[in-house]
Amino acid sequence: MKNFALAGNPNCGKTTLFNSLTGSTAHVGNWPGVTVDKRDGTCKLGKEDVNIIDLPGIYSLSPYTPEEVISRQYIIDVKPDCVINIVDTTNLERNLYLTTQIMEMDVPVVVALNMMDVMEKNGEQVDIKELERQLGVPVVMISALKEKNLKELINVAIQASENKRVGKTVLEESPIGHLITDLTIAFQGTEISNPLFHAVKLAELDEVEIKQHPQLIHVVGGFKKENVDPKFQGDYEALIADGRYKYITAHYSPCVKRVFNEENNKKDKRSYRIDRILTNRWVGIPIFIFVLFLIFHLTFSENFLFLGGLINTDNFASLADNTYWGGLTGLFWTSGGINSPGVILANGLNALTGAFTELMRTALAGAAPWVSGFICDGVLGGLFAVLGFLPQILVLFLLFSILEDSGYMARIAFILDRLFRKFGLSGRAFLPMIMGFGCSVPAMINTRTIADEKERVATLRVIPFFSCGAKLPILTAISGCIAASFGFANVDIITLGMYLLGMLTAIVTVMIMRQTTMRGHSSPFIMELPDYHLPQFKSTMMLVWDKAKHFVKKAFTIILASTIIIWFIAHFQADGTTWQYLGDETDLSVSILGTIGKIIQPLFDVVGFGIGPYGWVFVVAIIAGFIAKENAIGVLGTLAASVLAVKGIEYGNDAIGTFVQSLSTSGTSIYDAYFAAHGPAMLLSFIAFNMFTIPCFAAVATAKGELPKGKFWSTVLFWILVSFVVSSAIFLIPTYWWTIFIYVGGALLAWLIIFLINKKRDGKGLTPKGV
Ligand code: GDP
Ligand code: MG
Repeated sequence: MKNFALAGNPNCGKTTLFNSLTGSTAHVGNWPGVTVDKRDGTCKLGKEDVNIIDLPGIYSLSPYTPEEVISRQYIIDVKPDCVINIVDTTNLERNLYLTTQIMEMDVPVVVALNMMDVMEKNGEQVDIKELERQLGVPVVMISALKEKNLKELINVAIQASENKRVGKTVLEESPIGHLITDLTIAFQGTEISNPLFHAVKLAELDEVEIKQHPQLIHVVGGFKKENVDPKFQGDYEALIADGRYKYITAHYSPCVKRVFNEENNKKDKRSYRIDRILTNRWVGIPIFIFVLFLIFHLTFSENFLFLGGLINTDNFASLADNTYWGGLTGLFWTSGGINSPGVILANGLNALTGAFTELMRTALAGAAPWVSGFICDGVLGGLFAVLGFLPQILVLFLLFSILEDSGYMARIAFILDRLFRKFGLSGRAFLPMIMGFGCSVPAMINTRTIADEKERVATLRVIPFFSCGAKLPILTAISGCIAASFGFANVDIITLGMYLLGMLTAIVTVMIMRQTTMRGHSSPFIMELPDYHLPQFKSTMMLVWDKAKHFVKKAFTIILASTIIIWFIAHFQADGTTWQYLGDETDLSVSILGTIGKIIQPLFDVVGFGIGPYGWVFVVAIIAGFIAKENAIGVLGTLAASVLAVKGIEYGNDAIGTFVQSLSTSGTSIYDAYFAAHGPAMLLSFIAFNMFTIPCFAAVATAKGELPKGKFWSTVLFWILVSFVVSSAIFLIPTYWWTIFIYVGGALLAWLIIFLINKKRDGKGLTPKGV
C-alpha cells in the first residue's frame, strides 16, 4: 500500500482531514499542537487503498521543535509516496511558507487548499489553475470538515505518486540563489537524496546539516556577499525566510481574489471586541474561573441556578405521595433545590441500577448467604458505584469539548502564558495540562511539544494534578458524602474547589522545581488565536462517545475484576492453611484485606482518613486506585456495602454515602464523635490524596517512557511527597489549628534556603521571571 503523509501548519485541519479520510476518531482541537506524534490509518476513498500518516503540525522544516524533527525525518528517511500539504486557505501566505520548503524535497507533492467552505462563505475565490501553474504541483480545493472533494484529492495524490518529482526552489532568483546552486551541485556529487533540500538547509547554517556535512561548510564560507543586502548581516536564515515570503507575495498571493465583505468586517470587529474582554489582563482569569464554575454547576449542582432560594421545593412535597409524580422527587429536585442536568441524569441511572440490585437481592434470597453478598455487595456494589458517575463525566466532557472547539481554550492558553512566565513555564505547557483533565496519558505524551527538557520534566510531573476523568468519581462521590452528611456546601463548589486546588498545587510545585532542581529557560510560545466558531456537533459527539466507550470498557474489565478480588479477600480469613468465609455478622477487619490494611493504616494517620476502626477501608481504596483511579470508588463501594451489611444497615443504592453517614452518626464511641467533628477534613484529605499521589498504572508507565533517564524515581517520590504534604495540611490545619504555624514556618524556611542557595550560585536570589 502507498504511504501518503499529511503535512501542514498547526490548526490547518490535518487531523480533521485524517479522520474524514480514515474514518477514525483522533482528537481534533481548535488550538495548535494537539497532534504531536504521527499516526496512521487506511483510506478507502480513492481508486486504490492508501495508508495515511498524520504528521504533527509545523511552520517550517528547521530542527527547532520536536514536531519539526519528527516531520522532517519522516519525509527524508521514510520517503512517503506523496506528501499531501494541507494549506489553511484563510491564512494562505503563512501556510505556503511551509509549502515552499516541502517543494524543495524530491517527493511528489499535492497541495490541498482546506477550508473551502469558509472561503465560499467569505465570498473569496482562488484561481486554482494559476496557482497550480505557479507552484508546479497539483492543487485541490477541499473542506476537511464538510468532507468535500476528498475522493478527488486522494485520486490526484495517487496520480502524482506515480511519477518521480525533483525538488524545486523559489530562491533561485534570490541573492543567494548562486550559493544554493553551488551547494546543490556539491551535494549531487555525494549521491545524497534530496540534494536541493540539504543545500538550502546548509545555506541556512542549520545545525543538523552542519553536523552531518562539515566537509561542505567551506562553500558557504567562501560565498561572495556582494549582492546580499547588508541588513541581514550574513544571517542567511533570515535572508532565506525573507526570500520565501517575497516570492509568495509576488507570485502566489495574486491567485486569491479577496472580496471586501461588509458582513465579515463586522464579524471580525465583533471577534476582536470579544477577545479584548476575554483575554484582558485583569478580567481574563476571573472570567475563566467563572466559566469553569458554570460548567461544574451544570454538572454537579443540586441547587441549580440557586433556584432553591427562590422556589421552595418543599411545596412539591405533596407530590411525593402522588402515584404518578412521586418518583420525580429526588430525581429532579431535593428539599434544597432543583437538580442540574448532570445530577438528573446521574439520579436516573442510579435509580435503575438500584432497582436492579434490589431485584437481584430478592431473587437470591434463597441462595447461600455468601452468594447474595458476593453478587449484590461485591460485584454490583463496586460496579455501580463507578458506572453511576458516567452521566456526569459525559456532561463535563461535553462542556469541556465545547469550550475547546469554540476556540475559547486557546484564549486561555494565551492569558495563562502571561501568568505562567512568572513561574518559569510557557503557555505551551498549558496545552498538555488542559489535556490532563481528560486523561494523563495523552497529556504526558503531548509534553513532547516543550523543547526545553527541564521545563518538560516539570510539566509532566504536575500533569496528574489536573484531575482526570477517572478521578472524577472520587471527587463527586466523596464531595456528595460531605454535602449530605455534614451539610457542608454545594457539591459543585467542593468539586470545583478541588480542581482549582489541583491547578494551584501544580503552579506552586512547578515554581519550586524551576527555582531548584529544574532551573532553565522556558521556550518561547507563539500561537495565533484561531477564529471563534460554533462547536461541531459531530466531532463533539464523537469525543463524548469515545469517552463513554472507554469508561464502560474499563468498568467491566479492570474495575470489575478488582472489586471481585477485593470482595473475596475482604470476606475470607486465612487461618493457617484453610480459608474461612466470614459470615454476615463478622468484623471484616479480621479478613485478609483488613489485616493488611491495618498494618499500613498508621502511615495514613497524619492525613486523617487512616484514623479509626474503618481507616483501613479508605487506605485499601487508595491502594486500589493505583490500578485505575475509578477503582478507589469501586472498592470503597464494595467495602462500604459489606460493612453496612455486617452492621445491618440498609443502604439502597448509595453504599458509600450511607457508610459515611453511619460513621458520623451511629454510636457513641470516641471515634464516632471524632468523625462527626472532623469528618469533612478527613474526607477532603482523602480526595486530595487520590489526586496528588502516584497516578494510575497507565500514567506511571507513560511517565516512565516519556521522562529522560534518571528522572523516573524522583518523580514517583515527588508525587508521594506532594500528596502527603497537601493532604496532611488539609486535615491538620482545620483539626488542630496551631499546625498552621508548622506549614507556614516550613514554607518560609524552604523559601529562605532556596533564596540563599541560588544567591550563592549565581548572585541572584530568585531566577528573574520570564527567562
Ligand atoms: P490540526 O491541528 O491541523 O490537526 O487541525 P484540526 O484538525 O485539529 O482542526 C483545527 C480546527 O479547524 C478545528 O476546529 C476544525 O473543526 C477546523 N476545521 C478543520 N477543517 C475545516 C474545514 O474544512 N472547514 C472549517 N470550517 N473548519 C475546519
Ligand atoms: Mg492535529
